[in-house]
Amino acid sequence: MTHAVVLGAGMAGLLTARVLSEFYEHVTVVERDRLPDSPIQRKGIPQGRHLHSFLSRGCHLIEELFPGIRDELVDAGANVVDDGDLSCVYTRIGAYEMNRSEKFADPAALVFYLASRPFVEFHVRRRVAAVRNVKFVDHHDVTEPTVVARDRVTGVLLVNRATGEATAMDADLVVDAMGRAARTPAFLEKLGYGRPSEHRSPANWAYSSQLLSIPAGAIAEKMVMVEPGKGLPRAALVAYEHDTWILTVGQSAAHGEPPTDRAGMLALAERCMPSSILSGLRSAQPLEDVAIFNNTAGVWRRYDRMPRFPARLLVIGDALCSLNPIYGQGMTMAALEALALQDYLRDGQDEPQRFFRAVAKHIGPTWAMNQANDRGPSSVDRRRSARTRVVTWTMNKALKAAEHDIVVTERFFRVTSLVDPPTRLQDPALIARVIVGNLRRRRFSSSTAPSWRTTGRLARRRAASEAPH
Ligand SMILES: Cc1cc2nc3c(=O)[nH]c(=O)nc-3n(C[C@H](O)[C@H](O)[C@H](O)COP(=O)(O)OP(=O)(O)OC[C@H]3O[C@@H](n4cnc5c(N)ncnc54)[C@H](O)[C@@H]3O)c2cc1C
Repeated sequence: MTHAVVLGAGMAGLLTARVLSEFYEHVTVVERDRLPDSPIQRKGIPQGRHLHSFLSRGCHLIEELFPGIRDELVDAGANVVDDGDLSCVYTRIGAYEMNRSEKFADPAALVFYLASRPFVEFHVRRRVAAVRNVKFVDHHDVTEPTVVARDRVTGVLLVNRATGEATAMDADLVVDAMGRAARTPAFLEKLGYGRPSEHRSPANWAYSSQLLSIPAGAIAEKMVMVEPGKGLPRAALVAYEHDTWILTVGQSAAHGEPPTDRAGMLALAERCMPSSILSGLRSAQPLEDVAIFNNTAGVWRRYDRMPRFPARLLVIGDALCSLNPIYGQGMTMAALEALALQDYLRDGQDEPQRFFRAVAKHIGPTWAMNQANDRGPSSVDRRRSARTRVVTWTMNKALKAAEHDIVVTERFFRVTSLVDPPTRLQDPALIARVIVGNLRRRRFSSSTAPSWRTTGRLARRRAASEAPH
């Protein structure tokens, strides 16, 4: 096989190019932005101004594709939490604060690399650019794939953004990695294939994010994630590379527009962040303007269910399935899909729907878990599948137990970091622990009647008065 073309140099496009370089003599990555030679924001990745956490599973997967890249990120300035010590991680979901006083039994599986999206993408792009048979054609717009007859894609049409000149580039394989804008459905419709059916997630959050500088020592944590539920805003604060921090606050779009200034962001943070972190936040200095993102709804295009699909065309990354970004899974899913592509090509396969079916096995459980969380444990929706209801119930009870039980906490982090599948929250042994944890909590609750608003204070009182479990 001679030439493969990847459309889009986002994370999915980069990882795909790396995989294709093993199977094709030449790989070209076409990107409409001018690709910067330093880790800076670019127009084609507006989400790069928002919190990007790279889940542990994704970090392990990129290490498989680019050995040594994790050390490279740390050497270049990324923060890392790799010792299983939860004292620098504050997580609150619903009414429950995750255990912070103990350590993970298997810290190697749950390593958090904390760095901005432009930083991570830059380092991955540099590794891809060093692959002998990969080249980048930037500042070119992809118009659409080209075809002979209707059943086989044979290349792609590009337009040089500087000159307006159009070029046809021949290819033995074209992979659409152009992100959420998703051009392939319209292309398929034009060819007479029809559009893929779509699953859409119900949640729609509006985000505001800002890059900050925070005086050293003002905040003890490196990672703060707060999702109180019950119509309240959510917020996250993460220590990025080179002493920068990202603050992201969000609320359901139904509750109003996202704040456009620092005061508005602080006002939302004050409704959900613990007071110790808020006082550090008040001493922060902004490094960039506030960025807004308005549409977090996920979309999964079911190419795997289309009766016919043209040969030599694949779709990957957000163009195939954009997950609700509040769960921070997109880059990890892109890595899983790239490795599924590696398996597909190793098996010598040439039937796109086999690839889409293989990828659907990765997306399906994560999509179901997100659906359950998006709808929330209290939502009454008779159309919810039994599977979604089970996932919702188990997740809620596990969260409750995870306040005190490090085994449950660790399992929770492993599932939400995509290290383990969501079904691991339904292991009989874990459920037994969860039930015991919940009974203990109920006994405790009936004597103290806590509410989530008082939990910060309460947690300190509890810590002082209670022996650890
Ligand atoms: C607000 C927000 C926050 C997120 N937070 C996280 C997080 O914390 N963790 C995480 O893992 N994921 C997160 N994600 C998801 C993550 O950004 C993506 O899932 C991941 O980058 C994979 O995307 P992609 O490469 O498929 O698309 P993108 O990253 O969107 O890349 C698409 C590329 O295609 C190019 N392109 C588009 N159209 C054309 C064209 N016509 N011609 C040429 N080039 C084109 C674009 O310029 C861009 O470079 C977040 C997403 C959003 C929206």
